[in-house]
Amino acid sequence: MASYWLEDPVEPLPRSAEHGAPEVEIVGGGVTGCSCALALASAGVRVRLHEAREVASGASGRNGGFALRGGAMGYHVAREQLGSTRAREYWQLTERSLERMSRIAGDALRVIGSLRLAVDAAETAELRAEHDALVEDGFDVRWLDASDLDAALRGRFLAGLVHPADGALQPARWVRRLAYAAAAAGAEIREGSRIESLDALEADRVVIATDGYTDGLVPEFDVRIRATRGQVLVTETLPELVFPRPHYARHGYDYWQQTPDGRLVIGGSRDAGLEDEWTAEEATTEVVQRRIESLLRDLLGSSPRITHRWAGIWGTTDDLLPFVGPVPGREGVWVAAGYSGHGNVLGFACGELVARALTGDRDLLLDVLDPGRPEPS
Ligand SMILES: Cc1cc2nc3c(=O)[nH]c(=O)nc-3n(C[C@H](O)[C@H](O)[C@H](O)COP(=O)(O)OP(=O)(O)OC[C@H]3O[C@@H](n4cnc5c(N)ncnc54)[C@H](O)[C@@H]3O)c2cc1C
Repeated sequence: MASYWLEDPVEPLPRSAEHGAPEVEIVGGGVTGCSCALALASAGVRVRLHEAREVASGASGRNGGFALRGGAMGYHVAREQLGSTRAREYWQLTERSLERMSRIAGDALRVIGSLRLAVDAAETAELRAEHDALVEDGFDVRWLDASDLDAALRGRFLAGLVHPADGALQPARWVRRLAYAAAAAGAEIREGSRIESLDALEADRVVIATDGYTDGLVPEFDVRIRATRGQVLVTETLPELVFPRPHYARHGYDYWQQTPDGRLVIGGSRDAGLEDEWTAEEATTEVVQRRIESLLRDLLGSSPRITHRWAGIWGTTDDLLPFVGPVPGREGVWVAAGYSGHGNVLGFACGELVARALTGDRDLLLDVLDPGRPEPS
């Protein structure tokens, strides 16, 4: 079955004006590529984007629809990994990106906060450490004890963290709007254009924006960005609104959100078949789908009809930071990929970071996201 999100009606992209040979070509028409194309075209750069299938047909149209600030690790971990200054800047970058996204996304983004839940004492301690670090650095966050949780969650979870600035996306609609804005700003967007080799491109500068769909264009990143499968299912409309904002638990292994029309979008459970989920094959599996169904029954106390099931691929890096910047040893080739399952906001942010750097405005955060950084020991 196809992604529920991708069933949204597609508005044809505006045709770009003829403007001669591109100065920059982008490979990948997800959130990263479209964000980069919009920023470049808005800066007056001639840009052409190649998407092998259709805009948003990769992870950007197949994900859980969580628009979360920050990186794939907790904020307290990022402070240890990056130092306080860069960690704060990384989080602030994504908060600014969320604000900018809400101006482009229209009804594809609802800023309703997110709720991270703890299932045991260890996860409660982790949430507490993240909460304290966020508060110390001036970020908005709210702690919930078990007794503060909604009735549907009480007894199952021990604590919660509300991130008020986060949101819920209809991710395919959002990225199509982004592509529309890029095309309206002058970007040429070529769907059905699979790039088999970088030698086939005309521009002097190329941006690889394929996240987990690494496929030989830059072989060193096929190794350092590990293709990772995530699976999702969607129910029929539920009779009431049980979950007013996106929820996630068990270190992100479980996540669910209810759409404005009352369906439950629920995914994760990769740990039911962890070794098999390190793959670029976009296929659902019995073992993971059964585990998601079991979580669904636990959360609702019933088994609503399931209308959609799908899989998508994201790219995981060893240190959970994306690679953003010029590819070492490859003149003119840039990359923005490897968000480790956390790319809805980061992808938007990193596409812009690359565009800014290509137009002479390099952000210092690129120091810590440098594709040439050593592998963690
Ligand atoms: C099941 C699942 C759940 C997720 N949930 C969340 C979530 O809730 N919140 C969150 O922040 N993140 C989530 N993610 C991660 C997030 O979806 C991705 O990190 C993000 O969408 C990456 O966007 P992108 O544009 O970099 O890559 P993609 O959206 O994957 O786009 C890459 C595109 O490149 C194209 N392509 C590949 N090779 C070529 C080629 N040779 N030539 C031309 N085109 C090519 C592909 O067709 C694809 O469309 C999830 C991912 C999955 C799979």
